[in-house]
Amino acid sequence: MRPAFDEKDLARYPFLQEAQAKIAGSELNNLETFLSSEYGGQTIELAAERVEAAITIPPKGLDAYFGEFHAIIPNAQKSLYAYGMARVIASCINDRSVIDRLVMFEARRSMFYLMSDDHGETDEAKREEVARRLGLELRDGTAPLATYVEMVSVLREPGWRLVNREVKDGFVRVFDSEIEILLRERIRVVIRSRGLPQVPAEVCSLLAPAIEKLTAVHQGQMLRDLGPIDESRYPPCMAALILALAGGANLTHMGRFALTAFLHTIGLDVTQIVEVYQRAPDFDIQKTLYQVEHISGRSGTEYTPPSCATMETNGLCVRRDALCERIGGPLGYYRKKKVSPSRAEGT
Ligand code: SF4
Repeated sequence: MRPAFDEKDLARYPFLQEAQAKIAGSELNNLETFLSSEYGGQTIELAAERVEAAITIPPKGLDAYFGEFHAIIPNAQKSLYAYGMARVIASCINDRSVIDRLVMFEARRSMFYLMSDDHGETDEAKREEVARRLGLELRDGTAPLATYVEMVSVLREPGWRLVNREVKDGFVRVFDSEIEILLRERIRVVIRSRGLPQVPAEVCSLLAPAIEKLTAVHQGQMLRDLGPIDESRYPPCMAALILALAGGANLTHMGRFALTAFLHTIGLDVTQIVEVYQRAPDFDIQKTLYQVEHISGRSGTEYTPPSCATMETNGLCVRRDALCERIGGPLGYYRKKKVSPSRAEGT
């Protein structure tokens, strides 16, 4: 007999269809009324805590965090609603890395419960049932190729790469010891694929205090992750733009945008960015200040540097090197080179 999932289970595994239906038929349908209630206020606090933990706690520290703060769910309904509200908040923040971190947080949180047999409420049968419901039915120690590729897309260890696996007739061999990781990644893929709710601007404005605080937390965390500013690790395209400025060239609008957004994202303040433009022959302090402040968030939108594909379309992808083959954007280049300079240089 298949195991049943009670209210607490739905709070633990909020990606399940029953949990989704419960959220869809709840007070969360009328967010403006919900947010103005005391219960709504408490739920937002819980949701904001969830987003903050997702932003600030590294993946390796999450199990300890769940063990300390989430082992017991005092109010299953509030916890389930907090899952929904955390997604609303992430939708309002509308930043890809916040969304990715929240998705990863939720997948690890659910996995924490699925593996916590010690409180006697979860067992092997529930793990198997969750896997079945998510379409992760392993047949004779193999997973369908497409499902496997999707699941391992964010796993960096070479052992997960297809070239290092046994693949036969559209199935990939997997080992028992890998099932926990594959199930976690399957949960992540399913949560990710559902996207986030479209939240009207009026509702986002009701959440403004939480959103502003979390945006600041995210900005601070990103800068901490990037470490101190280090020009030697600028991607070739950005180094070329700075060199062009110093050499007296005028940059195109897109070139200015890309460089400013890049410098802002890695932590340079407005004055430091303006100093970079001082080297340009047509330097105009007022105009530069206006543009830099706009791109850095004065307009209410903080811009991030374009992807490599966009840079290439605009003729700004120059002097590519080996690391360029492994990243999707100039920021990824900088981040990777910060994390592991020797690996990044392909040595
Ligand atoms: S591949 Fe990306 S990071 Fe490398 S030079 Fe081109 S745009 Fe810059």
